[in-house]
Amino acid sequence: MVFKPPFGGWGIDVSYSIFQNTWSLSPHLGVGVLMFRILFFKYLVFKPPFGGWGSQNLIIMTIILFGPPGCGKGTQSALIADKYKLKHISTGDILRNEMELKTELGLAAKSYVAGGKLVPDDVIIDMLMQAIKTIEINQNGFLLDGFPRTIAQAEALEMKLAERNKQTNLLIDMQVNEEELVKRMLIRGELTGRTDDNAETIKKRLQVYSELTYPVKTYYQNLNKCVSINGLGEINEIFKTICTEIDKHTK
Ligand code: ADP
Repeated sequence: MVFKPPFGGWGIDVSYSIFQNTWSLSPHLGVGVLMFRILFFKYLVFKPPFGGWGSQNLIIMTIILFGPPGCGKGTQSALIADKYKLKHISTGDILRNEMELKTELGLAAKSYVAGGKLVPDDVIIDMLMQAIKTIEINQNGFLLDGFPRTIAQAEALEMKLAERNKQTNLLIDMQVNEEELVKRMLIRGELTGRTDDNAETIKKRLQVYSELTYPVKTYYQNLNKCVSINGLGEINEIFKTICTEIDKHTK
């Protein structure tokens, strides 16, 4: 009697959980080969951050782009993420997306963002932990933009990285004077309709920045992981300065 395996054979399903750092094997009759192909594809596309798969040695770089609202983090982030192949994580962009989709998180965040206040730490930390769970195979790490914004957020991040014997490589502090920041944000508000870019909310955001966020810089200065650069000038010139610092600190 000829026994033909259905749908391309039998096999073993091999799966890896990025989250628990564990493998699982299960026999598969029927679509085994297909399953194996899907899983193999998953391997090619995803690499677990923090050196999963039993290896602690994958280099995962973490760069924080830091600075007051309107200093140009978004513009520079796109350039940096592209050059160094980093996963760009902007907490502001994630929140705006959630608000647009009216998700539970978006609805909860809305009044904080509109009032120029910080979204509570536990919500943001959860959100960030989700975002750093996966990374694509061709990416070398994370570029954090808008996080950490409080000492508690910085501590949560470093604790997570320390689980894998990693730490943030560098915090780049972009310095721009207040007059220029306000000018830029008012123009941005007019051009994009971003609702928190209005005079009153801008004032509140700058105040929150100096009270709650600025101390994050000192936290990284104490770890010897902080560099300040001038955020005024040509976009490309600023980008070059940032690249020089990243190269210096990640070699
Ligand atoms: P900007 O840097 O121009 O202030 P973002 O786009 O980074 O703007 O963030 C917009 C708003 O989203 C913030 O004013 C704040 O309400 C909220 N937000 C973003 N990131 C965080 C964070 N790490 N912690 C708390 N709130 C945040």
